[in-house]
Amino acid sequence: MQNPQHILKSVFGYDAFRHHQAEIIDALVAGRDVLTLMPTGGGKSICYQIPALLRDGTAIVISPLIALMQDQVDAMRQLGVRAAFLNSSLSPKEQQAVEHDLLAGNLDLLYVSPERLLNESMLGLLDRCELALFAIDEAHCVSQWGHDFRKEYQQLSLLHVRFPNVPRIALTATADARTRGEIIEQLALQQARVFINSFDRPNIHYAIAESGGGNSGRDALWSFLTQHHADDAGIVYCLSRKGVDGTAQWLNEKGRVALPYHAGLTQDVRQRNQQRFLREDGLIIVATIAFGMGIDKPDVRFVAHMNLPKNIEAYYQETGRAGRDGLPADAWMSYGLKDVINLRLFTENSDADEMFKRVMHHKTDAMLGLCELTACRRQALLAYFDEVLEQPCGNCDNCVNPPETWDATLATQKALSCVYRTEQRFGAQYVINVLTGKDDERIQRNGHDQLSTFNIGGEHSGAEWRGIFRQLIAHGYLSTDAEGYGVLKLAPLAWPLLKRSDTPQTVMLRKLRKASKEKVRKKRLGAAALQDLSAQAQSMFDVLRALRSRLAKEQNVPPYVIFPDKTLAEMAIARPATQAQLLDISGIGEVKRARYGDDFLSEIRQFETGA
Ligand SMILES: [Zn+2]
Repeated sequence: MQNPQHILKSVFGYDAFRHHQAEIIDALVAGRDVLTLMPTGGGKSICYQIPALLRDGTAIVISPLIALMQDQVDAMRQLGVRAAFLNSSLSPKEQQAVEHDLLAGNLDLLYVSPERLLNESMLGLLDRCELALFAIDEAHCVSQWGHDFRKEYQQLSLLHVRFPNVPRIALTATADARTRGEIIEQLALQQARVFINSFDRPNIHYAIAESGGGNSGRDALWSFLTQHHADDAGIVYCLSRKGVDGTAQWLNEKGRVALPYHAGLTQDVRQRNQQRFLREDGLIIVATIAFGMGIDKPDVRFVAHMNLPKNIEAYYQETGRAGRDGLPADAWMSYGLKDVINLRLFTENSDADEMFKRVMHHKTDAMLGLCELTACRRQALLAYFDEVLEQPCGNCDNCVNPPETWDATLATQKALSCVYRTEQRFGAQYVINVLTGKDDERIQRNGHDQLSTFNIGGEHSGAEWRGIFRQLIAHGYLSTDAEGYGVLKLAPLAWPLLKRSDTPQTVMLRKLRKASKEKVRKKRLGAAALQDLSAQAQSMFDVLRALRSRLAKEQNVPPYVIFPDKTLAEMAIARPATQAQLLDISGIGEVKRARYGDDFLSEIRQFETGA
């Protein structure tokens, strides 16, 4: 008799379930609806793949990720699972073949886009076949607060109405309490069992570096890459298309292979660049937020942000694309004064109603708070998702190199009163120029060289002042104008500091971090990040990886679809000699053993006799 545990071992090659996988599978198999929140890399898809094999009929997987469906289906077929997809990339003839297989009951899993699913002829087709379950992937797309919002997702509640006896599972890798509520509401999942896994991704190291403006963000990125990821695959996020193109070109000039990805490129180019990123080793993709949802490349070793994400959900989701294989990975960000002003402006400018604006403000404050934090980043990040981490993590920049703070009360008073004296009509750079007594024609024309605050800030450099203003805006002493010119205004918090109050208030700010002072973290070795491999195991690993690349190329699938790095590393250490021993390696199920066992065994034999 087939049971979940048996399928986990024989098909997927794993010994034990993780997180709540077993309970989720049991609930679905029993016909219950489920909502599951699981971090990226937590093994989301097994939660519906195994029930799909256990229940009669076909499981329908609804996913917005058309470009990735081919890879998802390939990965299933590698395991011997009968999977297919229906989307606009298929020819009419191919579509017919899939529909025929569906009606004949020859499919375990069928991937469809929400648009396709809502199509009346598709629904009619589903009426005529046996359905195992509906899996609604990336369920946070129902949320109009998020940047992945898809209107069609809000209509998916009709599944509940039209197919009341087919269990549904909604899955997402990110959702705060509000989004969670929206998913339940919009998808009519009030009766569903809810499983919330820890959002902690302990293998990801978080770091947020201050940028002094100009080219300093790129310089910092370059030293981060050369220090930690000289030949690793990773994603660099930029805010604008221009930023993407410029950064990709700059990285190429520096000698890295970097490809751009944004909505301004043709569909063909986007698709090609994404495919190369998934199939080649060590490539960097430079992208706007348009890139990455559903990317299941497990060996992305770093995610770098060149600008501030709009909120913590986006930050968490984007950084979550690093290290899905559980091996060490980096989430790195560079941000500066300009980013803070832009984010504040964005919030002010949106022409949404008051309620929406309040939510946006709250989200912006939380994001800026995370950046300016002097305590453990992971504790704050998890707290945002209502999760308590008892101890500082020891694996973020603030834990590794605790930031220094200083009493900035006097500097704050100077800054605020200079904003006041210049009548709250100028942006940060102008005010800094007045404070530092810059010889500037505009300042003279405005008569601001006559102000009492002219040239009273010479004890700090321009970069230091930018850091001070950044923090004052982030902490809410200064706000930006609603018209969107970046003009600084005094916020209510500022007044007690300006008045000679009898209850003196201290302002503590972060000190600028000196790059040279950064303690060097333990060096991580390249793609494998497999610290424990001996030299010999490492060279065996490289040999196995080359074999994997050859096999992947022959079939035009990403290498990790054949075996993940972890499986190769286990093989390199255990050196199985027989077919039976292969099954002891995690990630090798029966179909993959039959398909690749001989190739890998003979490669291992050759290596041993040659060594
Ligand atoms: Zn920490």
